[in-house]
Amino acid sequence: MKETKVFIVGSGPSGITAAIYLKRAGIPFILCEKSMVGGKVALTAKVDNYPGFTSIDGVELALNLQEQLKQNEIKVTYDTIQSIHKENELFYLEGNKDQYIAKYVILATGTKEKGLGLDNEEKFYGKGISFCAICDGALYKNKDVALVGGGNSALEEALYLANIVNKVYLIHRRDEFRGDLTLVNKVKDKDNIILYTPYIINKLSGTNHLEEIQIVSNEEVESLSVSALFIYIGYIPTLEMLKEDILLDNGYAVVDENMMTSLPNLYAIGDVRKKNLRQIVTAINDGAIASYAIGKRENE
Ligand SMILES: Cc1cc2nc3c(=O)[nH]c(=O)nc-3n(C[C@H](O)[C@H](O)[C@H](O)COP(=O)(O)OP(=O)(O)OC[C@H]3O[C@@H](n4cnc5c(N)ncnc54)[C@H](O)[C@@H]3O)c2cc1C
Repeated sequence: MKETKVFIVGSGPSGITAAIYLKRAGIPFILCEKSMVGGKVALTAKVDNYPGFTSIDGVELALNLQEQLKQNEIKVTYDTIQSIHKENELFYLEGNKDQYIAKYVILATGTKEKGLGLDNEEKFYGKGISFCAICDGALYKNKDVALVGGGNSALEEALYLANIVNKVYLIHRRDEFRGDLTLVNKVKDKDNIILYTPYIINKLSGTNHLEEIQIVSNEEVESLSVSALFIYIGYIPTLEMLKEDILLDNGYAVVDENMMTSLPNLYAIGDVRKKNLRQIVTAINDGAIASYAIGKRENE
C-alpha cells in the first residue's frame, strides 16, 4: 500500500502537466500510467496546431514529454487503476499491482475509441480493424484500406495513411465533414483518398482477416475490397474505475473552474471532462489549473 498526497491517473498531456506543476509546487504525488507515457499524443501522426511547434510527429512530442518528466525527476508508476473509492476523506485506489491512498485524485484518463457496433466487428480487431493509423498503417503498405469518420482525427489519419497505402476509402455518414476546413481541403486534394459521403458501413466480411466491407447510401449498396478498416467515429470517457457517483454530462465528468468534480478533492482534467474542445492545448491547460488549485488549498 502506497500513500501520497495527490494521485494522478493517466500520463497523457493533461496528467503530465499536472505532475510538472505539482513537482514545482513541492507537493508529493504519484503519476500512474497503464500503458504509454504521452497518451493519445503518441498515437497521433502529426500535430500541426500546438503552439511552439510548427509541425511535430506525435511520437516525437510524446518523447519530449517523457524527457521533460525525466528532467523534472518525475517517475512514472506503471499500473492499471481498477477502482477508486472514497472513505473518511481519503481516496483508496486499487491497481493491478498495488494499492494506493491519497488525499486528492486527479483523473486524467482520457477517452476510449467507439466501435461501429456491427456483427463480426470484434472478431476483426487486430485482424484488419484498427483504431490507430500510426500504429498499424505500415502493415498495409501499398494496399487499399478504408477509414470511417468525419472529424479532425479521421481527416488527419486519412492523410497519414494516404502516404503509405495505395488507396484510402474515406467513409462518412454525412455530406459535410466536421473537421477543420484546412484539413478537409487537404483531404479533397489528395488523389488516392476516395470519398464516400454520405455512406455508412453495414457489413464486415472476411475469413480470418477483414477482406471486404459493405457500404450503403440511401438505396445504393457497394462492396469494397479492403485490407484494413480504421475507425475514427468518436470516443467514450474512461471513467469506469470510479466507484463513486459524480455529476456527469453525456458520460463526461462535470468540473468547476478549478477542475474539481462534484466529489470534493476529486479532479478531472483533459479529454475525460465535459468540454467543448478536446485537444492537447486544452488538456495541458486543465492539468496546470488542477495542480495550481490543489497547491493553493494545501497552502491555505
Ligand atoms: C488520432 C488522433 C489525432 C489527434 N490529433 C491532435 C492534434 O493534431 N492536435 C491536438 O491538439 N490534439 C489532437 N488529438 C487530441 C489529443 O490527443 C487529446 O486531446 C489529448 O491527448 C488528451 O489528453 P489527456 O491527457 O486528456 O488524455 P490521453 O492523451 O487520452 O491520456 C490518457 C492516459 O490515461 C491512461 N489511463 C487510462 N485509464 C487508466 C487507468 N485505469 N490506469 C492508469 N492509466 C490509465 C491512458 O493509458 C492514457 O495514457 C488527437 C487525438 C487522436 C485520437
